[in-house]
Amino acid sequence: MVKVIPVVIELLSVTRVGSTGVYFDYSSADIVTYKLPLSDSEGVYYIPAIPATSFKGLLRSTYEKYLRRKEVSDQEKMNILESIKREVNNNSSNEIVGKLTDEVKEELLKYASIGLIKDFKQSNDLVQLLRIYLEVTGWNSKEACYVTSDLDQCVNLSIIEDEKVKKERELWQKLMGRDKICKVCSVLGTSGVRGKVKFTDMIAVDPFPVFLERTTHISINRLTGTAEKGKLFTEEIIPPGVKFLGFAVILEDSVLDQVLDMLKVLKDKADRGEVWIGGRGTSGYGTFKLYLPPEEIKFSTRSLLEEGLFKLKYDEPKREGAVIKTEVIKRLFPISFMSTLEKVTEGEPQHEVWYEVITDDNQVIKTENIEELNKTIGELEKAGKKYKIVSHGEYHL
Ligand SMILES: [Zn+2]
Repeated sequence: MVKVIPVVIELLSVTRVGSTGVYFDYSSADIVTYKLPLSDSEGVYYIPAIPATSFKGLLRSTYEKYLRRKEVSDQEKMNILESIKREVNNNSSNEIVGKLTDEVKEELLKYASIGLIKDFKQSNDLVQLLRIYLEVTGWNSKEACYVTSDLDQCVNLSIIEDEKVKKERELWQKLMGRDKICKVCSVLGTSGVRGKVKFTDMIAVDPFPVFLERTTHISINRLTGTAEKGKLFTEEIIPPGVKFLGFAVILEDSVLDQVLDMLKVLKDKADRGEVWIGGRGTSGYGTFKLYLPPEEIKFSTRSLLEEGLFKLKYDEPKREGAVIKTEVIKRLFPISFMSTLEKVTEGEPQHEVWYEVITDDNQVIKTENIEELNKTIGELEKAGKKYKIVSHGEYHL
């Protein structure tokens, strides 16, 4: 049965529209934002949004790194190296070992050039090279690959036609201790493997519409210190406090817990300021808080949702129970997803028990509480009328 997890992102600092994102050291810490045009009788709105692919990419890179760098004991590291040695020896006559050796070496040279490895000594021993590789990228390679790395990503072997490439990929997966597809790819998918979860775009729903701030910068010529003619650039800024709503759609029940775990890891990372949204620029831009079930979140009077407190809960999509304030929201998400945001009623007056006083001549007097009731009875008795009392509501003993 399909389940839907609501996710809300609240911006804590100013955030740039667009992205200068780099995917470096396997840590994409950047989410791009785009503006979704939406027209109605009032005109065209441009709503900041985070594309589903971008959110999924951040979730994936965060979780890959988290799993891959899990603590591995020295004894386990020895075991991993022993098994790598066995695999390499089994294939020693093979040209594939030579090819992988070159590829790992090339990868390590890249790391050395950006300072991730100090004093890299070149070697032709694949086991030694892999020891360094795992030291840098994390030893828990059996649970997580790096999907953006041509070398390390999981691939569905059955879709590779070239026999040589297939053998090479097969050996790599053995060296990394992965029998098939890693824990991350089996949930999110990889080339030749379908993911078991889908994401919607995350769309700014509170306030709606968002007024973007525009700042124009002038390019200053570094040498002359004067403004360069015609070199103005405009930057669009989303103010802090804006809330984005999106959904993860679980297509197979078996991955629900793992997706919740992924989201939790991302949430913790956001709390520590280690991931951000939009172009980074000056540090401090784009920090955010992630809200997940069973948390509660408040939407304002200017929200596309009703004002008030909502409880996030994962659930099957259903049409009933959806709190819809404006038609606009129906153009952004399937209505059945909205039932995962449950309105929390707070501070409502409690009328647990109330009384009806029915007189002889069938006059019905409603009273809200004991004081009102006593007052009514007093008046009836003074007037010499007969009556009976019927109580309604819940009793708490
Ligand atoms: Zn993988």
